[in-house]
Amino acid sequence: MNSTITLPGFEETLIKKTETRNGQYIIHFEMPITLHDCPYCGGQTKKVHDYRITKLKHVKIAERMTILFYRKRRYVCGCGKRFAEKNPIVDRFQRYSKDWNQMAKLRAVKEKTFKETAEQYGTSVSTIIRRFDRIIPQALHKKQSIPLSSPSMSLKGMQEMKSFSSSSRMGKQKIQSIFCQR
Ligand SMILES: [Zn+2]
Repeated sequence: MNSTITLPGFEETLIKKTETRNGQYIIHFEMPITLHDCPYCGGQTKKVHDYRITKLKHVKIAERMTILFYRKRRYVCGCGKRFAEKNPIVDRFQRYSKDWNQMAKLRAVKEKTFKETAEQYGTSVSTIIRRFDRIIPQALHKKQSIPLSSPSMSLKGMQEMKSFSSSSRMGKQKIQSIFCQR
């Protein structure tokens, strides 16, 4: 099936089908077959080994939760080794698209509570906290002196943070202050 649909970030992909199911936007896509370098022997191949459909969460499109069905291809080289194709949408072993991860990190910092972010992105609070925790070491590295507490922190935020990991509890307000000063 040929398609003329293009979506931001999907320019290099082949969108096979889009649909709306239970209020969610669903995109089925795959990558075009291209010559790949074998990571094992350095040779080149475009011989397809197999496909596997992976389901991924993506950022909202037109205010709808968006799910991707990626028909992921593996190539086989003349040397006998098999490897996954390159793609611009998702990193290896991830259940969320690169865009989603990027968004979730930003949101985790900007929104008042992790719960709010989780609801926005249709995921669990713990997933958002994990994304958030990933930013902390980078951010702390960039700036040395960070206020430990802030009077503007809401009671709700305090209670929420109390119940989570210590790094998250300390981190959120700190990170917010770093980002706000930019
Ligand atoms: Zn090879």
